[in-house]
Amino acid sequence: MDTRIGFGWDSHAFKPGGPLRIGGMTLDHPEGLAGHSDGDVLLHAITDALLGAVAAGDIGSFFPPGDPRWKDADSAIFLKLAMEELEHARYKIVNVDTTLVLAAPKIGPIAGEMRALVADLLGVELNQVSIKAKTPEGLGLDHVAQCHAVVLVERNLDDDDLKSMSAVIESQRQLEDVVEDLLSSVHGVPKKRTVSPIFDTEDIT
Ligand SMILES: [Zn+2]
Repeated sequence: MDTRIGFGWDSHAFKPGGPLRIGGMTLDHPEGLAGHSDGDVLLHAITDALLGAVAAGDIGSFFPPGDPRWKDADSAIFLKLAMEELEHARYKIVNVDTTLVLAAPKIGPIAGEMRALVADLLGVELNQVSIKAKTPEGLGLDHVAQCHAVVLVERNLDDDDLKSMSAVIESQRQLEDVVEDLLSSVHGVPKKRTVSPIFDTEDIT
């Protein structure tokens, strides 16, 4: 199996006023995340992990922060572009694992709903997406939301791949035949693939 791994990390500071957008959801919280886009730290980390898996750059190279088109943009747009890059490189998602690090709000009670939404955005099954959350113990970063994401991807086999694979198998067989012929001619090693006679000629009377 041809697999690759991608890692993404992101952080945004909390700012007074909302909305707080995480994992494509709007959460009930007095503060939102500062950012040029909607500041969705989880979708940004997954976007970078996907781009990283196929060495396609990072979110900033596709969506420069100063570009007015991405002001307050829904981060699902960024995720969609990363998925297109993945598809273009002919890979598909095996699974995504994430860890959010933030003091509040509590993610546990809504993690299930968030997983379903992210799985939907990624076009994968629920069991292919994991969302975990921790508080930033001892970091003194209660004013910041961070997210780590890893993604495993595997190559999509298409018709051309299958054709070239069968060609390799065919040429492998031919090579084995040549080696067997050589061995039998040099060392007298009997060929493995001797065709057994359909009937025993001795029996013909
Ligand atoms: Zn971000």
